[in-house]
Parts: sequence; C-alpha cells; structure tokens
Amino acid sequence: MQKNQFVVKAANTTSPKPAPKAGYAAKPSADHKYSHKRPDHKAAKSAPVIGSTVSKPNFKPQSKATPLHMPAKTAHAHTAASAPKAHAPQSALKSVARFQDLDVPVILLDAIKSMNYETPTPIQAQAIAPALEGRDILGCAQTGTGKTAAFLIPMVAQLLKNPENTGLILAPTRELAAQIETVLRDLTVNCKSLNHAVLIGGMSMQPQMRALSKRPRIIIATPGRLIDHIDRRTVSLLKCSFLVLDEADRMLDMGFAPQLREILKTVPPKRQTLLFSATLAPEVRKLTQNYLRNPVEVMVGTTSKPAEKIKQSSVSVDAKQKADVLLDEINARKGSIIIFARTQHRADRLCRTLKTYNLDVGVIHGGKSQGQRNRALQAFRDEETRVLVATDVASRGLDIPHVAHVINYDLPQQPEDYVHRIGRTARAGESGEALSMITPEEKHLWKKITQLLQSQ
Ligand code: AMP
Repeated sequence: MQKNQFVVKAANTTSPKPAPKAGYAAKPSADHKYSHKRPDHKAAKSAPVIGSTVSKPNFKPQSKATPLHMPAKTAHAHTAASAPKAHAPQSALKSVARFQDLDVPVILLDAIKSMNYETPTPIQAQAIAPALEGRDILGCAQTGTGKTAAFLIPMVAQLLKNPENTGLILAPTRELAAQIETVLRDLTVNCKSLNHAVLIGGMSMQPQMRALSKRPRIIIATPGRLIDHIDRRTVSLLKCSFLVLDEADRMLDMGFAPQLREILKTVPPKRQTLLFSATLAPEVRKLTQNYLRNPVEVMVGTTSKPAEKIKQSSVSVDAKQKADVLLDEINARKGSIIIFARTQHRADRLCRTLKTYNLDVGVIHGGKSQGQRNRALQAFRDEETRVLVATDVASRGLDIPHVAHVINYDLPQQPEDYVHRIGRTARAGESGEALSMITPEEKHLWKKITQLLQSQ
C-alpha cells in the first residue's frame, strides 16, 4: 500500500526567476527567511486506505482486497409501495471487472470503447451493476476516480430501455456540470434519442429554454438555475425516473439544501436515486435517509484522504514573503500549476503580479462572468497558459489531466477543501505534487487539515 507522502520541499531560493517585464524590478531571489516545516507524519502513516488506487495508463481492475458494497446503514424514507420488491443482499453484489460483462446495450459499449475506457475503475466496477438492476446508490469515492461514468452509464442504459422516462443530474457548480456534459456527449454519441439540456446559472435563459422545448431526456443542472426554470414552468420533472446528486456534500456546503428540497418535491418518488459525495458527513447521511431507498453503499478509498499519487509538502512563510516564495516555487517546477488563493481579490492581485514576471497566467473565480471563466479554463486546458490562479470555485470537479502541481498560496478555510484542491492534480492515475504555503496566521488551518487526514 502506498503511503501519503508528506515531504518537506527544500525551498528553491536560488533558481532564476522568470524575467520581469520591462519597467519592473526583479524580485530578490535569495536569502528568504522562510523555514520549512514537516507536517505531522503520523497523519499520513495512520490513514487507512479502503479501496483500490488507480494506475497508469489504465485503471486497475477491482482488487480482491477492496471492500465492495458496505452494508447500508441508512433507513429508507420512501413508501413501501415504491420500494423494489426484492433486493439482492449487499454481500451478493459482485464487482464487474469488464465493461463487456455489464448488461448494457452494444451502442453504449461501443461508446465506452471509443472513449478508451478499457477497464472499469473501482467505483464503476462496483456501482454500475447494481444501478443497472435498479438499486439506489450511495457512492463515496476519491476525486478523479471515474464517478461521472459510474452514474452516467447506468443512467443512459436505463433511459434507452425506458423511452418515456427522463433523467436529472444535479451538480454544485457550472464547471462540474460542463464536465458531466462532456462525458455524457461521448457516451451518447450514437444515441440520437437521448438529447440533453444543461441548465446552469450565469448563462442566458433563452438557449436553455430552447433546449428544454425539445423535451430533453437528460437534464444536467445546478440547483439555483433549475429552481428558476421550475418557477417559470419551463421545465417539468414529472417523467424523471433517474436522479443523480453529484458532489452532494459540496451542494450542502454551498447552502443548496433548501433548493434540493424544493427540487425533490417535483421529482416523482418512484425513481432511482444515485448520490455521490466526497465525504459522508452527517448531513450527507441525512440526505441519504430522506431521498434514497435502501441504497447500495459503494466506497472507494476514504474520501478525506487525498489521492495516493500526490506528493504533498508544505513551506512556512511570512505573509509578506508569499509572492516571492511562490515565484521561486513556480520557477522550480515543470508543468501546469493551479494556485489557490483565499479571495477573489487576492486571486486577481496574484494573477496581475505573476503576469508582470512574464508568466502565462489565467484566473478563475466566482466574480468572473461565465464567459471569462470558460475562456480562462479553456486556455489552461489547451496549455496556452501554464498557471491558473483560482479560488475554491475550482477546488472540486475540475478534471484537467495535465495539472502537475497544486499550490495552496492560501490555505482553505474548510479542511475538506484541502483534499478537493489537491485532487486537481494526479488525475486518472497520473502523479502530481501539492505544496501548501503556511503563514503563522494560518497554522490553525493547517492543524485542522492534518487532523482531518489523521482521522482517516
Ligand atoms: P471523474 O472522476 O469522473 O472526473 O473521472 C476522472 C478521469 O478518469 C476522467 O479524465 C475520465 O475520463 C477518466 N476515466 C473515467 N473512467 C475511466 C476508465 N474506465 N478508464 C480510463 N479512464 C477513465
């Protein structure tokens, strides 16, 4: 079993900095007074790993050691009438090692093949088969584990089987919704009957209304915008038989609980529900109790534990030295970097500072228009910009395989966000590095982060 590696990165105070633009003075490159501090190693050593890791180039098939469907502890709140007649006991549910062994239409298998998915990832191996049997799923997986296809494959298969029915996927952020759409497009490339609509805030209503007028079979939405459409009666969820709540913990963190309640009132109770969450916090359990029916619990890894292939390190700095240290760190690294800042203002300021050093930098945060966010993301995806400065808007869901480094310029306020932030690197079995810069004022936040990792 591979351990989380907390390593202390030696500060690179001597490496040459990117040349400043004309008119700007070069920052001093040596004699920084910052010190390096090793975080609690016990945290990494004691963190148990449940589930499999992913490996390059393909995900490893499910290993025997991985606990599969954990016994569901949740009660079901649905009426007996809506409960399926008989369920296989959890222990009898098998993980599926090959996509070909799944009971899905050939058209879907062909699409999976064209996506170069050769073997199901652990979450796919465990969740797809019971979902195809109509079971509700409570999925808990590390970031980048292939959970999108784990819910989209059964959704597409069920909707192909039942041409009257529709599906709804709720996601916390526009970026995640857009990523889900990308995978959906690939999976339904040959399924003409499965049109879809994406309903996300920050975009004009008109194209969304046009898409809705075509009676989409699948809707991907953020909760706020979906409520807007429900209120305007531009959408009906009466035929919805397959509901996915993706990154449920994040939706709750973002205060979407009231919207979820509203939306779920309009979705028929006789439906299949799949809930995915990075953590199983008590609020998520409650959501599960209220909206899922005897779910199969699928756990892949402990979700408060960062991906195994992320080399984590930290550096202690004074607040005033942060920008200098950051420049050194950028210069010492190869490949694409996401840098997290605490506020929109700090992200903008940092982006401006880095640009003065001739770095190709973009910035993404909630204060930018959707168009600006899309352009910044696309440029980063296409490697036109090497550095993306972001607030926590980008800490979840973003799937950009070439991200080699995550730098926490500011530590996150919520320790769970640390795991999500650094999960932007080491995607799909790649390895990556994560560096956290810690000022004396942020020590309490770092303590919470190490405690969280230790508790797992
Ligand atoms: P997700 O966790 O859904 O964001 O997926 C993370 C990454 O894994 C994405 O780049 C997917 O394209 C990739 N992926 C998902 N399933 C598979 C699979 N079975 N084989 C190879 N890559 C996959």
